[in-house]
Amino acid sequence: MATQALYRRYRSQTFDELVGQEHIVRTLRNAIVDGRIGHAYIFTGPRGVGKTTVARLLAKAVNCLAEPAERPCGTCSMCTAVAEGSAVDVIEMDAASHTSVDDAREIIERVQFRPAIGRYKVYIIDEVHMLSTAAFNALLKTLEEPPNHAMFILATTEIHKVPATILSRCQRYTFNRHNVGDTVAHLREIAVQESITLEDGAAEAIARAATGSMRDALSIFDQLMSYGGGTITLQQIQGLLGVTAAQEITALTDALLDADVGAALSVVARVAAQGADIRQFSRDIVNHLRLVMLVKADPQGTELDVAESEADSIRSQAQRAQMAGLVAWLRRLSELDFELRTSPYGQLPLELAVVEAIAAPRLAPQSTPVPAARPQPATPTHTRSEPVRSSEPARPPLVQPVRSEPVSADPAPAEPARAHAPEQPVSAPTRTTEERSDAGAPVLGERVPFIDVTDLTERWPAIVRDIRAKNRNLEALIKSGIHPFEVSEDAVTLKTDTDWLLAKVQERPNILLIEQILERHTGKIYRIRSVAATQKREATNAKREILRDTSNIPIVKAAMNVFDADVVGIETPEKED
Ligand SMILES: [Zn+2]
Repeated sequence: MATQALYRRYRSQTFDELVGQEHIVRTLRNAIVDGRIGHAYIFTGPRGVGKTTVARLLAKAVNCLAEPAERPCGTCSMCTAVAEGSAVDVIEMDAASHTSVDDAREIIERVQFRPAIGRYKVYIIDEVHMLSTAAFNALLKTLEEPPNHAMFILATTEIHKVPATILSRCQRYTFNRHNVGDTVAHLREIAVQESITLEDGAAEAIARAATGSMRDALSIFDQLMSYGGGTITLQQIQGLLGVTAAQEITALTDALLDADVGAALSVVARVAAQGADIRQFSRDIVNHLRLVMLVKADPQGTELDVAESEADSIRSQAQRAQMAGLVAWLRRLSELDFELRTSPYGQLPLELAVVEAIAAPRLAPQSTPVPAARPQPATPTHTRSEPVRSSEPARPPLVQPVRSEPVSADPAPAEPARAHAPEQPVSAPTRTTEERSDAGAPVLGERVPFIDVTDLTERWPAIVRDIRAKNRNLEALIKSGIHPFEVSEDAVTLKTDTDWLLAKVQERPNILLIEQILERHTGKIYRIRSVAATQKREATNAKREILRDTSNIPIVKAAMNVFDADVVGIETPEKED
């Protein structure tokens, strides 16, 4: 009961004292001054935002003895009687505790009797959606033909549970949550009157925890006051509520923006050490980042319902932030609530999320990361020229080990391919090395390592060894004269030394097996094409003949003379369609 004391003590006695809900106060005041008072009002909105307080103000106003513009004066006998709860003509009932059929119905039916003293007999029915059906029927009957002196003020947090027949007979007022600024101001006023010192940020922390409910804010304040000592500190608030100071939220956001993993983790450590609720802290961070995102999207149009100092930091963070980063962080961090609830590892999920948010935005800038299987570290298939490689950037794992024994233990015999790509640093960083260096795994379906014929030639012995494990005959065929010749984006061309080998390698099962092993080694699907070395030579001869013939065409000859040129190729003009 003690926790209600403050809320009761500081309950507004006049419209002027009321915090927030200006739109409602203005309308009601005008109605009172103009004498346009309705028979039924319904106040809806979240709990603790002033519905009952306004209902009492209205009940006072309609019976107040002061001039209409002054009503409710808060000082006349009618006003004080309502404030004390002794006004016979103002009947307050909580529908939640008057659910027995006859009780509520009887009370409502008594509205037919004239008021004892005042001008109006006022019924304030809180949580009206809890009324029994019989009581609702009685209420409806009364509202259909209300006596002139009757006035009903209904309040509810769940307007959708109130029958439409009732709603249609009421003036409806929707109460908003209190904004942080109003709540902070009200808390500070009360602190002055109670001779309580509020540490910097304390009022803001209470207001944030109260999420727009003044009653909750004052109830928290009351509890903190009961600690004694005359000062309310942030630490007390954190201890009571598990909420975190705004500066920790700002600090973590700054660390994310600066990509400073160390700073981010030390914020988490600090928050955990304070005994704050990590889940609540994660929610606070998500709310904060959401505001940063909203301001980023619409710097002028976004209204911030936060303390002034927090609004400043949100605006400056929005200027520094990238929208894609904010979206990725929000996605990642908003999953935390569930993780933290189910994880037995304390703040670890938050730490992981923070590290991932900083380290991995490049992993998945626009989309959620594809959970690609992480290949084990590449088994080196190249065992020579190590000194050169050791100083080079880490080579992306092109090869997924497909054998249990280390391939490198068996130095490959000299391969024909080695002959034409010998001392070159064949393992020069591939194009995607940089993007993938912190990604760890190639994301399938996205950029896979770029393989050129040199890479493939180098890996060919290992590939052949794996083919041997499946088909010894094919291995023998390959060893007798089938080599990588060309690699394009989706196809590998193999060169054969003879037409007979060409025919063999083109047999469907052989093609399929090579493709399958190739995919295991590269993480990518290639089609196998084959070309015989002899055919290639023939093709080259044929081309040379065509070029020679072309050079004999008179107009080409003339062009060659004029430009001192040679024929290097023939292009067929594209059809215009
Ligand atoms: Zn009065």
